[in-house]
Amino acid sequence: MQPAKTPVAMDDTPRPALLAGVDVGGTKIAAVLVSRSGEVIASDTQPVPAQGGGAVLRAVAAMLESLEHEAGSRVTALGLGAAGIIDSGTGTVLAASELFTDWVGRRIGTELESLIERPVTVANDVNAFLVGETRWGALSGARNALGVMLGTGVGGAIMLDGRLFEGPSGGAGEIGHTPRHSDHRCTCGGVGHLETVASGRSIGLRYAERTGGSPLTGEETARRAAAGDPAALAVFHDAGRALANAVLTAGTLFDVDHVVIGGGVANAWEFWGPAFDATVAENPPVSRRPLTVRLATLTNPAIGAATLALDAVDSTGATA
Ligand SMILES: [Zn+2]
Repeated sequence: MQPAKTPVAMDDTPRPALLAGVDVGGTKIAAVLVSRSGEVIASDTQPVPAQGGGAVLRAVAAMLESLEHEAGSRVTALGLGAAGIIDSGTGTVLAASELFTDWVGRRIGTELESLIERPVTVANDVNAFLVGETRWGALSGARNALGVMLGTGVGGAIMLDGRLFEGPSGGAGEIGHTPRHSDHRCTCGGVGHLETVASGRSIGLRYAERTGGSPLTGEETARRAAAGDPAALAVFHDAGRALANAVLTAGTLFDVDHVVIGGGVANAWEFWGPAFDATVAENPPVSRRPLTVRLATLTNPAIGAATLALDAVDSTGATA
């Protein structure tokens, strides 16, 4: 399907300005149209095309066209959040997991701009998540914050003084790959990284090691914890303690006092929480400012990506 080359037909009624947000994950593409105040006007989710690369961007353009028809209005700009290391200055994917076919090295921002003929801002998906949560979600109004995404892997993002801190290669905030949390090999090739105890995949593996069974998913391990299985509870206890240690280190280094935690594995927070909270209580920040920790409240990851578009529009002085 080709994207619209002409504006969506509209009557003369003035309509609120809209922005688009898109989250490209390992298996799904989520897209939303939002108002300037973060209200979701329309949304859609589609599987990621198996061909990867350009097919993913064409799918995004087709989803945008269909959502604009549904809303009866045309968006001003689009924000795209994608997993991996992203150079947000050039909209280029520098590194991504093997789940993403024909993706590394692509200038996805420029390619998508030529398809939809509007400005596109690209960022790492966890960076987009943190921007969304500090604007419209659990940490609304926070200017110094750490975001942690507990999914198949463990992602992280840092906001300092109201701006994302991405680092020279876009890899700042990767809390999942901080060392000394275990003796296990990480998906990145390192050893002992936080991700080896706190990702959904690792939680299932650590449970299997304790019980001698086959690896489970994080969700299934959480179900066993809910049933009182001591091995499952111990795995979540270890994960909660390791996560707290990593968060405390990051918070201390940057004097960041707000933390938002999201991702599918965080749904089992009741099993992480006791060890996490106890570890935080044992290690008060040297600043003496208590750490505010919240679970994410924005249910659609594409909402954070839409925030990127809004900020880009506002920073260029264009009308949205
Ligand atoms: Zn690692």
